[in-house]
Amino acid sequence: MIRYDLRCDNGDEFEAWFGSIADYDKQAGAGLVECPHCGSTQIEKAPMAPAVVTGRRKDARQERAVAMALASKVREHIRENFDYVGEKFADEARKMHAGETEERAIWGEATPEQAEQLAEEGIAAAPMPPVLAPTPPRKLN
Ligand SMILES: [Zn+2]
Repeated sequence: MIRYDLRCDNGDEFEAWFGSIADYDKQAGAGLVECPHCGSTQIEKAPMAPAVVTGRRKDARQERAVAMALASKVREHIRENFDYVGEKFADEARKMHAGETEERAIWGEATPEQAEQLAEEGIAAAPMPPVLAPTPPRKLN
């Protein structure tokens, strides 16, 4: 199996698996490869080498790469869409939980103790996804 990182003409990036390089060429050439985000069939390979998966080590590396990409998307989303409340995070979360302020999406700083207390009080809060170190560049076999 070969995994390709693909990109559509709207700039969405996604990955797809093909039985072989020829399979990819054939399907993409026939317009059968569709962007899962917007349905576009104007697909090109993202500028990186395809990874050929042959063993466990590479699986782990790929999973890490996927996790890293997801984590950074989630962080980006939170930064853009959530209200930053800084060190007042625990207070703000409690106020919302108690109905003293309007419910909204917030993010900020909390100590592990504060996070634990919130959890005990039944207030849903999740840690930001970690920033993972980049993986070494992929090599073609
Ligand atoms: Zn798309």
